[in-house]
Amino acid sequence: MDMTWFDEMEKRIPVGKVRTRFAPSPTGYMHVGNLRTALYTWLIARHDEGTFILRIEDTDQSRQVEGATEIIYKTLTECGLTWDEGPDLGGPVGPYIQTQRRDLYRKYADLLVEKGAAYYCFCEKTESAEDTGDFTKREDDPCRSLSYAEALARVQAGEPHVVRQRIPHEGQTTFHDVIFGDITVDNDTLDDQVLLKRDGLPTYNFANVVDDHLMGITHVVRGSEYLSSAPKYNLLYEAFGWPIPNYVHCSPVMRDAQNKMSKRHGDPSYEDLLAQGYIAPAILNYVALLGWSPKGENSEREFFTLSELSGVFELSGVSKSPAIFDIEKLKYFNAHYLRELDAETFFALAQPYLKQAVKNPAIDLRLIAPLVQPRCDTLCDIAEQVDFFDALPQYSNELYCHKKMKTDEQNSLEALKAVLPVLEGIGDWTYDNLHDALVGLAEKLELKNGRIMWPVRTALSGKAVTPGGAVELCHILGKAETLSRIQTGIEQLS
Ligand code: GLU
Repeated sequence: MDMTWFDEMEKRIPVGKVRTRFAPSPTGYMHVGNLRTALYTWLIARHDEGTFILRIEDTDQSRQVEGATEIIYKTLTECGLTWDEGPDLGGPVGPYIQTQRRDLYRKYADLLVEKGAAYYCFCEKTESAEDTGDFTKREDDPCRSLSYAEALARVQAGEPHVVRQRIPHEGQTTFHDVIFGDITVDNDTLDDQVLLKRDGLPTYNFANVVDDHLMGITHVVRGSEYLSSAPKYNLLYEAFGWPIPNYVHCSPVMRDAQNKMSKRHGDPSYEDLLAQGYIAPAILNYVALLGWSPKGENSEREFFTLSELSGVFELSGVSKSPAIFDIEKLKYFNAHYLRELDAETFFALAQPYLKQAVKNPAIDLRLIAPLVQPRCDTLCDIAEQVDFFDALPQYSNELYCHKKMKTDEQNSLEALKAVLPVLEGIGDWTYDNLHDALVGLAEKLELKNGRIMWPVRTALSGKAVTPGGAVELCHILGKAETLSRIQTGIEQLS
């Protein structure tokens, strides 16, 4: 075979810097495990000022989902996992979408057949047996022993075929993984997997090797489900005479000790977590710690921004053991991140949730946002805390009785009766005026503030727990609504 074209391809490969890639299949959503792979892959590149590449692995046409690539872009962008080369950006080793590289795989498959490390197979097999290359007695495959000339003639005559890897019957293959160390397998446990399918598209098993090589990938980061295939990839690299990249296989993210997280079994994807009111920086921070731990002075530390992570992330901190996804722990991270947001950013995130519960346009949602900010673990906790602003719920008079505040139904009634004219007399309904009026009233009556504030807050909300105290609630509800609710309280207690 004329090697000119292949030599040109080799010349395009960038060298000298760390190059990593995230290579999702466009399935329409992002698993937590995939997100973690993306994050670790990105961190390895950023830690060493290398290049992070996005490659779309869409050769499995049966799994195509409309708009799925856009979801990948959106997710990575939202998470701050910026890429340097990819389908949208281009780059020196494109295209970055596998179906657009179709012709290239064919050439490498033919080269491999010529080298004797693969063969054309004309056997009729079911689609699934073909995809996985899965058949037990490969010695039985008559195509394995066809002469190269004969097989080539049949291919040139247009006979449908696949290309299979020719795995040596004897010997062992050893590969090295950064996390798992050296792993050795007997070659006779490996199957003659399909490299190129009948439709001319490569399988993942072939495309990943060709692309990782041609794209100059130095660290191949992926889930440990690919560990068992790694010896076959090594044999491919060796047959081509290509250097083997650093393999970084990450243990799965588990739902519990036995089960991997799986969207099909109802475990949340990244998109689901967003819909459940978690925010991207919190998810990322938590996901970073699923299977990686910081060392040295940071070993006890939990909170890291993305750029802090890229400074401290080391592969030596990645664990072999599967990590268990704990939603309560994520909640803890999320609560922390929500509290840390500046008021404007929090308001922007909270607004849809506030609107969902508070429809009255007279109520200023900007006044409510800072009250709920310290009181929610997820954005979905907002609505139920603020629903009373729209409509006073039915409530029991027992809510007026609070031991610590020393309030009961009788003295609450007296308090509300005293409050009503004071509030009626306020012309300028500002927070400060309300505060001074209510505190002033308590002072005048020689009562502790709580004796006034508790009944007012109860009358205004009908709830035992509210974001914000009496003064805030008066302020937000406005004069008319406040007076009306206090009046209702008086009637209910009388
Ligand atoms: N497309 C593969 C997946 O989504 C990527 C595996 C890899 O990173 O090599 O699982």
